[in-house]
Amino acid sequence: MSDCTTSVHNHNQHNVQIIAAVDSLAPQVTALALNIHANPELSFEEVNSAAALIAPLRTAGFEIEEQLGGLPTAFRATFDSGKPGPVISLLAEYDALVDLGHACGHNLIGTASVTAALALKQVSHLLTGKLEVVGTPAEEEGGGKIILSDKGFFDHVDAVMMFHPRDKTMVVRGGLACVDAVFKFYGKAAHAASAPQNGISALDAVIHTFNGINALRQLFTDDVRVHGIISEGGSATNIVPAYSEAKFLMRASTVRGLSIVKQKVFDAARGAALMTGARLEIEEGLTYAERNNNLTLAEYFKQNLEILGVEVVPPPKSGGIGSSDIGNVSQITAAIHPYIRIGDVLPHTPEFAQAAGSEAGLQAMLQAAKALAMTATDLCQDADKLQAVRDEFLSWKSHF
Ligand SMILES: [Zn+2]
Ligand SMILES: [Zn+2]
Repeated sequence: MSDCTTSVHNHNQHNVQIIAAVDSLAPQVTALALNIHANPELSFEEVNSAAALIAPLRTAGFEIEEQLGGLPTAFRATFDSGKPGPVISLLAEYDALVDLGHACGHNLIGTASVTAALALKQVSHLLTGKLEVVGTPAEEEGGGKIILSDKGFFDHVDAVMMFHPRDKTMVVRGGLACVDAVFKFYGKAAHAASAPQNGISALDAVIHTFNGINALRQLFTDDVRVHGIISEGGSATNIVPAYSEAKFLMRASTVRGLSIVKQKVFDAARGAALMTGARLEIEEGLTYAERNNNLTLAEYFKQNLEILGVEVVPPPKSGGIGSSDIGNVSQITAAIHPYIRIGDVLPHTPEFAQAAGSEAGLQAMLQAAKALAMTATDLCQDADKLQAVRDEFLSWKSHF
């Protein structure tokens, strides 16, 4: 009984220290988040954003590795407590969207993880093991985390955490497996009126591809999404188009299901090439894996949000989900990707970009930093909690 009381007391004391540490950093880190917000940089071009996030970590004594995995704007900042314990990795995103700036709020994501790490460094007597901030570029286009995962940068990590701004505070939400492909059709130009018989229409091949995919839709399971655009459709109405191109995204609830969808979609494009006589080249992108939320870790994060007075709601029962490269990290180690509300706004809109630089956005970021730091401390201070997180992950892995 007395042990239990002491532990609760210590637990509360830890939280008080972490909350105070984050609050003391608030002026500095809100300026940092606003600076990144005001200077949006696209995927793999986040030179200034990465440098801005690295600077305070370097000053605080973290060991800095730049150009992690050969990616110019990836980094890792490490603090080794010198005590045995878990390796905890906080992920920073900081890429923006074409035309819309920080309409996905990655300025808040990167800054929240850095803030949590700076706060934990201030209360480093609570830390065991190693704490890392991994700067993962190009979430929107390029899949920085996929590249870093494939290069083994999460193999040694016990738990990975980050947060994402959103219209609702949800600790667990799914993410679809996803892959993109470009279909390039090479036909033959001809005068469209005087000698059409000499031509091969690459545009027709693209149109047949769309029609073939549309015919497949009735055979897809409900989780599947296939959506495309015509990125090249010919250059003049009086020339049979010699080159035409379509870009597609394919999504399904698992990588395994996605591979079947991909095969069918690729066959539709191959069939279109056969019908028209065009030659087809397929350029396939990286595969984003589905998200494997660690429910145990998510529950600790939820409890900490509730200690902070933040209300958490359940995720939608179906639909309303996209894809993220955190999915690939979550296949390698225990990971969470919770959401915190910044307003009645949805990502990838101008309104969301505005919210990502608003007072509500900054407050959500500070709440995220507190909950991230509190959850990291839970894992450092309570071996049973850490074990439960690892057991869940290893059990999931063994059934995979
Ligand atoms: Zn986004
Ligand atoms: Zn995002």
